[in-house]
Parts: sequence; C-alpha cells; structure tokens
Amino acid sequence: MSQPSNSEMLIVHIDGASRGNPGPAAYAAIIRTEAGEPIASLSRALGKTTNNFAEYQALVAALEFLAEHRYRRAKVFSDSELLVRQIQGTYKVNSEDLRPLYERARKIIRQLESFSIVYVPREKNREADRLANETLNSAGGYPRSFAHRESVEGQERKAEKMAEALKVRPLTTLTDEERMFQAAAYEFAVKEIGPHVRKMDEESLFRKDLLDQFFAQGFMGIGIPEEYGGSGGSFFMSVLAIEEFARVDASASVIIDVQNTLVSNALLRWGNDEQKRKYLPRLARDTVGSYALSEPQSGSDAFGLETRAQEKGDHYVLNGRKLWITNAKEAGLFIVFATVNRELGYKGITAFLVERDAPGFSVGKKEDKLGIRASSTCELILDDCLVPKANVLGEVGKGYKVAIETLNEGRIGIGAQMVGIARGALDHAIAYAQQRKQFGKPIAEFQAIQFQIARLATDIEAARLLTYNAARLKDTGQPFTKEAAMAKYFASQVAERVASECIEIFGGYGFTKDYPAEKYLRDAKIGKIYEGTSFMQLQTIAKLVLGGS
Ligand SMILES: Cc1cc2nc3c(=O)[nH]c(=O)nc-3n(C[C@H](O)[C@H](O)[C@H](O)COP(=O)(O)OP(=O)(O)OC[C@H]3O[C@@H](n4cnc5c(N)ncnc54)[C@H](O)[C@@H]3O)c2cc1C
Repeated sequence: MSQPSNSEMLIVHIDGASRGNPGPAAYAAIIRTEAGEPIASLSRALGKTTNNFAEYQALVAALEFLAEHRYRRAKVFSDSELLVRQIQGTYKVNSEDLRPLYERARKIIRQLESFSIVYVPREKNREADRLANETLNSAGGYPRSFAHRESVEGQERKAEKMAEALKVRPLTTLTDEERMFQAAAYEFAVKEIGPHVRKMDEESLFRKDLLDQFFAQGFMGIGIPEEYGGSGGSFFMSVLAIEEFARVDASASVIIDVQNTLVSNALLRWGNDEQKRKYLPRLARDTVGSYALSEPQSGSDAFGLETRAQEKGDHYVLNGRKLWITNAKEAGLFIVFATVNRELGYKGITAFLVERDAPGFSVGKKEDKLGIRASSTCELILDDCLVPKANVLGEVGKGYKVAIETLNEGRIGIGAQMVGIARGALDHAIAYAQQRKQFGKPIAEFQAIQFQIARLATDIEAARLLTYNAARLKDTGQPFTKEAAMAKYFASQVAERVASECIEIFGGYGFTKDYPAEKYLRDAKIGKIYEGTSFMQLQTIAKLVLGGS
C-alpha cells in the first residue's frame, strides 16, 4: 500500500453483503488512486443487520479512513441506488438506524475538498462485492451471492456459445457500447438532472444550462452520423437514453425523445443532402427541434389538418395554427405539416423545415399541464409565414408519409419513456418499502407488498421487452409498425398502473409532494395521449392483426 499525495483523487468502491435482510452482514471498501494503485481494502463482519446498514457502514469506514489519512478528494462508487441518492440529497433518510451513519458520512464529506458519489450496476462493483462476501463467509455467514455468481459465470460461457450458435441474443442483452452508454445516460440523469427535477416541475420550466449539457454530452444528436457532428449511435441507443432519463425525469426524457426520434430521425430519412448538411450539425450542436403536426381541430385525425401552404415564387406561404407542440419554447427548428391543397385530402400534405426566425412565424401560448410540466408545450402561429421551397422536407404532397412513418418510429421512444417512468417509480417505492417500518418490521417484509412489487416488476419487464424488440426490429430493417404501436400502448398502461400503485406503497406520504411518487403518476398520464392516443394504437394494431382489412 503506497502513500500518494493527499490532494490526489481517490476512487472508492463500497459494498455491503448480507444473508437475509436483516441477517449476518459484512461490508467492504476498496480504495485506489485514479491510476489504479491500491491504497486500502477495508472490510468487516457486522453480525445481524440489513443490507442498507452494511452499505452505509462501508461508506463511513471509507470516509473515516480518508479523514484519518488526510486525503481530501474522493469519488465513491456504490451499487446501492438508495444510498447514492440519499447522500446526494435527492432522497430522504427515514430509517432511524441509518440516520446516525448518514450524518457521520455527511460530516466527513463536508470537510473534503472534492467529493462525489455515483451509482454503478453491481457487475461494475464486483471487487467490493466479492470482498464483502468473502468477509461474510469467513465470519460464518453463507456467501450466497458469491457462490451463485461463480456458478453463473460457468453457465454464462455456455449460454454465450448457444447464443452465438443460434445467432440470437436475449432482448435485454446489450453490446458493451450500449451498456456503457446506458450507464452514462443514467449517471448523467441522476447527477445533473436529478437535483433540479422538483423545482423545474414546480416552475414549469426547463433549465437552459441543462439543455446545453444535453448537447455537450451528445444526447441531442444520438442518431446523427459523426460526419454531421452527431454521436453516430443507433435508434436503440436513443431508446436507452430516453428510458434512463425518464427514470429520473420524464420532461428531460421527452426533450431528447422528440429531438432524436422525430426531428433528426425525419431529417435523416427524408432530408436531401443540402438539408442534412445545413441542419443536422445544428441539431447535434445547439438547436432544439420540434415536430408540429397537431392542430386545434385535428388531433387523432391528423390528416384533417387545416394549415395551408401556398406557392409564391421560390417560397411557400404558410397560414394556420399548430397546437401542443413539444419543445416549442426552446426550439430553433420546426418540422411543420401543412396542405398545399385541401381538396387533395392527405395527398396535399407537405412537410416544411421552418426556422424560428422565419418571417410570419411565432410561438404562442404555453400550456399549463398536469404532467411533464418542465417540458414546454406551445401553440405555433403561422401568419403569412415565408418558407423557402428548398425547405420542403421530402416531396410536395408526400408529407403524410413523413408524418406517419416518423411517428411509427417515435412511438418506440414513447414506449421507452413509459418504461423509464415505471422503473423510476418502482425504484423509489422499493427503497421506501425497505425502510418504512410498520408492526415492527420493514413493510417490504409483508407478502402483500412483496407480491405487489413482483407484479409491477413483471409488468415493467414485459413493457421493456416489447419496446426493445420494436427498436431492434427497426434498427435491423424489419417491419416494426405493429410492434411499435403495441409497445407504446402497453408501456403507457404499465407506467400509469405502476406509478399509481407505487403511491399506495408510500401510503399517505405518496400522496404528498414531499416524495417523488405523485409526479411519476402525473408524468405517466401523457403516454396514453401523445403520438397517437391508445385508441389510435389499438386501431393500428387491429388493422395489422386483421391483415390490413
Ligand atoms: C403534452 C403534449 C405534447 C404534445 N406534443 C405534440 C407534438 O410535439 N407535436 C404534435 O404534433 N402534437 C403533439 N401533441 C398532440 C397529441 O398528439 C394529440 O393531443 C393527440 O394526438 C390527440 O389528439 P387530440 O388532443 O386532438 O384528441 P382527439 O383526437 O380529439 O381525441 C379525443 C378522444 O377521442 C378519441 N378518438 C378520436 N378519434 C377516435 C376514433 N376514430 N376512434 C376511437 N376513439 C377516437 C381519442 O382516443 C381520445 O380519447 C401533444 C399533446 C400533448 C398533450
């Protein structure tokens, strides 16, 4: 064990292990320099306690070590989302047992020069997990998860061979790149968006500095090829980011959803070379996009739209109003659908790329909404709005194809948003159920609560599989319209049900704004409405199931 300078950043992995909850337990903390040089491995058996308690003990032991040796900078990794959120201050510590440890940890953290704590999935915390389990084992506790993992590793090799032979993979198996991207998206959401969620919801306003960070981190141009300044990712990666963001905040999630699955997606598919060169770099760099189809009189009947586009020299003149347009307050570019001739019915519909400063264009009233309050939803006013002919997206009269085919893809994004909302709500409810005591024990020990959580987790898994399948079908060039409609339809039901039942797990506290449970329900409601209501999804599914009749 060496002694680096005290101002060097130290990397700390912590974990707790227990047999039963409560049960015999142990903790471990592994401390290294950023270059990977070992500083200390701390571990101790604790007797009978809970997993959370052991995890907190690991953190406190690591912090005490830092204080004792006068180290001043640390980044801590933990696979306990609850602990991470509590230390970050986004989740309350209710348990009497944990409070003294929490306060001890906070006291030491305040004295450090630099401190951060980050959630990592268990597989990335393997070493600390292993040490905690070994400590538990040597103290006489049965190292359940360690023994299980050893046997799983043997099975993993067999399963990999089988997947290779069959050329298929389970839907939830991600590539290394996808897994890293998913973890980065969640970490970003928890760390950067998380602290502002409540205030943005209350104020119905999305922070500009956060939007800037979305661009800087590449979340606004996930599918835009690198040659246009984007991240060059797949549609599936957009879906992952939408889901991870929605676990923390559905408003943040819909901002990146519209940008990636509707606006840049439509440009990539229908834009000509000049349009792509002009707009894709802007969408990746600093320009928010909006997708404007709906109107006061045409929602589900989208092709009944009334906004007119009249040819005038090398321009079109657009007149009409658009309603419910997501991102409109912040957007610099709008895909606007208008008809060049109402008598042609849907065959008159044309898509236009309209810049915010186009003459005759303005953004009107912003809606005061039930949920996704921080995401702007506004009216657009087109009053003799001049749009160059070069800004027709796709062909004149083929806007219905742009609209319908883009929305078919966008629905997968909404499915992902709903899965994320449901996961976020359930994560909070599980953490709460493990802490909240009634009749002398955590409510998570009552079978009724366990079964409720099990049912909700199963629903989420089903919604997730539908969503991932639709995204994979799209990315691999296979038909996906029915699957996308099913994913959105089902996931929006699941999100609403899960969010609602999670409020019940919180009891009275769930009904207040002191906890995030009620917000998840408000946010979930939109899933059954935008990008085609649930009835419209059923209509699509029925048409395709009945063979297009
Ligand atoms: C927060 C928010 C954000 C939005 N963002 C955008 C956006 O960015 N861009 C955009 O273009 N639009 C956007 N929308 C509009 C959204 O897509 C529409 O609200 C939606 O398509 C429904 O249209 P409508 O509100 O006019 O309802 P209506 O179409 O009037 O529907 C009312 C009810 O009647 C039912 N119904 C209608 N027709 C039928 C039928 N044939 N059979 C059975 N039932 C039927 C519907 O299912 C619904 O229950 C947004 C809406 C909201 C609330």
